[in-house]
Amino acid sequence: MDKQLVVNKLYLLPAGHGIVKEYFINTDLGFDNPSMVRSPLFIYLLDTSDGLILIDTGLDEVFLNNPNYYDGTPMEGLLYLYMKEEHLIPNLLKNAGYKPEDIKMVISTHLHCDHSGGHKYFRETPVLIQKNELTKLADETYSPPECRIKELNYEIIDGDYELCDNIKLISTPGHSPGHQSVLINTASSGYVLLCIDVALTEGIFKRNVPYFAVDPETAAASLSKAQAIAKQYNAVVLYGHDARQAETVKVYPEFY
Ligand SMILES: [Zn+2]
Repeated sequence: MDKQLVVNKLYLLPAGHGIVKEYFINTDLGFDNPSMVRSPLFIYLLDTSDGLILIDTGLDEVFLNNPNYYDGTPMEGLLYLYMKEEHLIPNLLKNAGYKPEDIKMVISTHLHCDHSGGHKYFRETPVLIQKNELTKLADETYSPPECRIKELNYEIIDGDYELCDNIKLISTPGHSPGHQSVLINTASSGYVLLCIDVALTEGIFKRNVPYFAVDPETAAASLSKAQAIAKQYNAVVLYGHDARQAETVKVYPEFY
């Protein structure tokens, strides 16, 4: 990877949505709170001077027209995932004028079902992932098996990592063991912080609303870190699954 590569465009590609228990994004509500909220899903495509980089791969096709996938499991009633043909990776990329073979590198933020479902299309491509997230590859309760493929060309990162001058991987564990966020300096918008799931919503980011995390203490420290980085770089902050922000963000063909 060219150290001085220029990120010409950062595209947000809408990749379906979830309807989830609101207590995932605000644990103050308590686990018996019945309220559900919309959870938009995006993947991110970087058009750089050194090729295309994809950040996350969305849902696997086990969810295709199958929002009740989790019925009969401990997850029943907690989340419903809505995916159409257009949200399959080959179709998302085709809509942007590309195919999976055009992707030079995948950055995998974590292995939850809504972030790694299309990893299977990138068997030869380097997939950058945090070491601690790989501990979940064998965890049957973590996400569908299609989202935890062992035989990928993983490039293992351990902690913060400067991929190049304009793309930094920020280790933000807590939501998941090896969660990472991404800080990108784009040619037209300056710094953009993709929080991913260290801050699912603006409320979590700005008001420290507690949210669902495997390790809440570590998640809180990671959130503070993300807040400090956003301030330091005066970054545009994009939250992982914020329904209100999703209505105002630039989505493909617009870009950051
Ligand atoms: Zn997640």
